[in-house]
Amino acid sequence: MSNIIVQKYGGTSVADPKRISGVAKRIISYRRKGVDLVVVVSALGDTTDNLLKLANQVSYLPSEREIDMLISTGEQISVALLAMAIHKLGYEAISFTGAQVGIITDSSHTQARIIRINAARIKRELAEKKIVIVAGFQGADLSREITTLGRGGSDLTAVALAKVLKAKACEIYTDVEGIYTADPRIVPAARKLEMVSYDEMLEMASRGAQVLQTRCVELAKRFNIPIIVRSSFSSKGGTMISKEAKKMEKVVVSAVTLNKNESKITIRDLPDRPGVAAKIFKIIAQEGINVDMIVQNISRTGYTDLSFTAATDNLARTLRAARKASEEIGGGTVSADRDIAKVSIVGVGMKSHSGIAAGMFDILAKNKINIEMISTSEISISCVIRKRLAQRAVRAIHKQFKLEKP
Ligand code: ASP
Ligand code: MG
Repeated sequence: MSNIIVQKYGGTSVADPKRISGVAKRIISYRRKGVDLVVVVSALGDTTDNLLKLANQVSYLPSEREIDMLISTGEQISVALLAMAIHKLGYEAISFTGAQVGIITDSSHTQARIIRINAARIKRELAEKKIVIVAGFQGADLSREITTLGRGGSDLTAVALAKVLKAKACEIYTDVEGIYTADPRIVPAARKLEMVSYDEMLEMASRGAQVLQTRCVELAKRFNIPIIVRSSFSSKGGTMISKEAKKMEKVVVSAVTLNKNESKITIRDLPDRPGVAAKIFKIIAQEGINVDMIVQNISRTGYTDLSFTAATDNLARTLRAARKASEEIGGGTVSADRDIAKVSIVGVGMKSHSGIAAGMFDILAKNKINIEMISTSEISISCVIRKRLAQRAVRAIHKQFKLEKP
């Protein structure tokens, strides 16, 4: 194993000059311990969102190549500023774009996948005892076109670098102290978790927890790279995300998550015959839309209604695809309901315990909260409910499963 630690600092950790100086000091405290540091940085504060807004003011449908050209500048600003802040404190540091440090991706602009990383340059700089600072979220394809790795992609940059450099740790610094049993803004009694398994983290991320990018957790799981999530504003220990351990299985429910960014789309009066669902979801998939939950009603008349949930962000596109599908099949009207929320419980211990779903449904019933859709996996249970009842549901479930107690 090397002596390298990869640290990633998120946008809020470097939101202004004062915070950038704070991050520089933290980095140097590690450097003093003799660690070789590779630091990945996100764009300052809301820079990426603001750049995307600008693009949309200039054009309804900006080209994805040009979007990447634009939004990759955010991270280029932060790496340069961080290097300067470190220089000021008397230490050697050098900043790089993704392309400069050999992060080669495919050509799918705004959602590129890393193909390989040629880390020779980074290793050379580390050998010269420099702190290496790398722009997160970006790379270049084989024709040297600049690409980005999907929103939140700096996490992915960090984990991918930790892998190729055989780093001894990959630390993700953010504005919270780790992964919690629930969003502390909703449940003040929420507790920070010491350990979370990759699978739990993946479920939590896809069910509303916004701390880590899903793709980064997938990569970490595939190569068994432990990730530590911790705060850049405190010195507390954080949460370790790693392979499932025996200890974890004792905990039945680890966390409650909430996702308010999905809508329910309903297609009415579909003929109840083989091939209908296949056709609908093929058309929707062709639009690049990820469907989450699906329910189909029982048909009494040979016709049936079908509902599914998908991200509200793409609602217009999803509706267009659903209407097209319904028309082709001879179905009825399509409607959307934005006022839903999805509450989920996640825990590896669910694999070996029964009655957990019943406990969740029971507490929702006691709170007079109607369940509109249900889905389960080996380690999670999700319910769609009315959005206005979402916070109440999260608090009640957290209490029901006594998540505030270790
Ligand atoms: N700045 C990019 C974004 O906001 C990448 C990142 O933050 O990880 O999505
Ligand atoms: Mg960001």
